[in-house]
Amino acid sequence: MAQEDVFKKIVSHCKEYGFVFPSSDIYDGLGAVYDYGQNGVELKNNIKQYWWKSMVLLHENIVGIDAAIFMHPTTWKASGHVDAFNDPLIDNRDSKKRYRADVLIEDQIAKYEEKIDKEVAKARKRFKEQFDEAQYRATSPRVLELAAQRDALHERYSKAMNDGDLGELRQIILDEEIVCPISGTRNWTEVRQFNLMFSTEVGSTAEGASKIYLRPETAQGIFVNYLNVQKTGRMKLPFGIAQIGKAFRNEIVARQFIFRMREFEQMEMQYFVKPGTELEWFARWKETRMKWHQALGFGAENYRFHDHEKLAHYANAASDIEFHMPFGFKEVEGIHSRTNFDLSQHAKYSGKKIEYFDPETNESYTPYVIETSIGVDRMFLSVMCHSYEEEQLEGGETRVVLHLPAALAPVKLAVMPLVKKDGLPEKAEEIIRNLRFHFNCKYDEKDSIGKRYRRQDAIGTPFCVTVDHDTLKDNCVTLRYRDSMKQERVPIDSLQAIIEDQVSITSLLKKLL
Ligand code: ATP
Repeated sequence: MAQEDVFKKIVSHCKEYGFVFPSSDIYDGLGAVYDYGQNGVELKNNIKQYWWKSMVLLHENIVGIDAAIFMHPTTWKASGHVDAFNDPLIDNRDSKKRYRADVLIEDQIAKYEEKIDKEVAKARKRFKEQFDEAQYRATSPRVLELAAQRDALHERYSKAMNDGDLGELRQIILDEEIVCPISGTRNWTEVRQFNLMFSTEVGSTAEGASKIYLRPETAQGIFVNYLNVQKTGRMKLPFGIAQIGKAFRNEIVARQFIFRMREFEQMEMQYFVKPGTELEWFARWKETRMKWHQALGFGAENYRFHDHEKLAHYANAASDIEFHMPFGFKEVEGIHSRTNFDLSQHAKYSGKKIEYFDPETNESYTPYVIETSIGVDRMFLSVMCHSYEEEQLEGGETRVVLHLPAALAPVKLAVMPLVKKDGLPEKAEEIIRNLRFHFNCKYDEKDSIGKRYRRQDAIGTPFCVTVDHDTLKDNCVTLRYRDSMKQERVPIDSLQAIIEDQVSITSLLKKLL
C-alpha cells in the first residue's frame, strides 16, 4: 500500500476509534485545529506523563512549572517574536492556495533525495549481492549529478533564508519550475513575510485595551520565571525547568493532520548552565532525548538527528530529532543551544538583573541555556503511525491492530464475560472493581468474543481477559495478548502482577537509567 494511503487510513482510524476528531466537527471543522477523543486523551496524557516523569522525577535538579498562556506583551518584543517570528508565504494565483515558500523549496530538495534513493534501489536490484551502496553513491554519474543539483539548491536556499531575501526565494521557485500541486501552474505571487503570532486584546474598553498575544512557544514562560524558580527553589547551576502547555501559531499551511496545527501542545525543558559548558550539555541532552524516544521500542532506524547548518542568530548549536513518518523523516523534537540570548533580552527589556551568583567562583553571570522542545501532538502522531498495522492472519482474514507500547495504551485491560448471563457479568465486574485502582480497565459484553477482541486490538489494548463458566469454579480466566494473540489460562489473583509492571510508565522510565 502506498504510504499516502496508509496515512489516510491512520487519520480515519483516529476518528473512528475516538482518538482525534476535527475541531467543531458538526460545523465541518476548523483548519488545523483538532480535538482529542476518549482514547486520544488517554494516550496523550500517557505521553505527557512519560515525558514529565523522565524530566522531573528522574532528575534531582529539574523542576516543573505551569505558566499562563497570556504574557506581558513586552515578552514577545524581547524574545524577538514580534519582529522576526515570520514565515515567507507565496500564493498561487490560479488555485488561490497559499504556501510557505521555504517548505516548497525544502520539498524540492527532498525530491532530489528521493531520486537518488530510487537510483540506488534500481542498482541494488540489478547488481544483487555484489551491490556496494557506498561505492555506487560515490561513483554513479547520475547520482553525483543529482547530488550536485541538490547541494547547489540547498546552498542557494540557505543563503536566501539567511539574508531574508524574499525576491531570491521566489526566483528559486521559478528556476526550479516548482508547480502548485492543486492547479499545476507556476503562476506565483511575490513572497511576503507573515507573522505567526495570534493576537487579541485584554481590557474591556477600546481605550483601555492593550494588544496581547497567544504564546507561540512555552519557553518564554520559563525564561521570565527563571529568577522566581532559582531563588525560591534555591537551585544551583546546572538546573532545569520543565513545562507542558499549549502554544499557538497561525500556520500558513495546514497539512498532515496533527503534524502542523494552529493550536498545539509543547513539552519544553530549559536547562541553565555555566557559560562555556553549553556544548557539552547540548551533546548530553541530544543523547538523553534520543534514548527517551528509542525506549519506546520503535527501532533505532526510524530516528535520525538533523543538525542545523543555518542557526538562529541567538543559537550556537541546534539539532532536530526526526522520526520516520509515512510522509518521510520529519522533525518531532528540537534541541537547541540558545546561549544567554533570552535571559539577556529579558534583563534588557525589564530592567531587572537576571543573573546567577556562582558561590564557587564568587562571580555573577547570565546562564546559558540548552532547550529540549517536543510537540505532544507530533509525538502522538509518530506513535500512531508506527503502531498502526493491517495484519494478515491465517485463513485470509485481516485485523487492524495498534501495537502501542503498553505503557502508552489508553486501555490496559478489557474484561469480557463470555455470555451476558449466568453470573459472568458480575464476576467480570468484580475483577474490574479490584484492578481499576492500578490501571485503566474497560468492561465489554457486546457482540461475539472475536469482535470484542478486534475492537480492543483497534485501540491498542494490550490485554484482554475472558470470564467463562469455569471461572466461577476455578477462579481462572483466559488472558489474551494483543500482539501474539496467544491465550493462556491464569488465576484471577495473578492478573495484577502479570499486567501492572508491563503497563506502567515506570517500565519505560527504567529503560532510561
Ligand atoms: P517546523 O519547522 O516544523 O515549523 P519548528 O522548528 O518551528 O517546527 P520549534 O519552534 O522548534 O518547531 O518547536 C518545537 C516543537 O514543537 C517541534 O519539534 C514540534 O514537535 C512542535 N511544533 C512546532 N510547531 C508545531 C505545529 N504547528 N503543530 C504541532 N506541533 C508543532
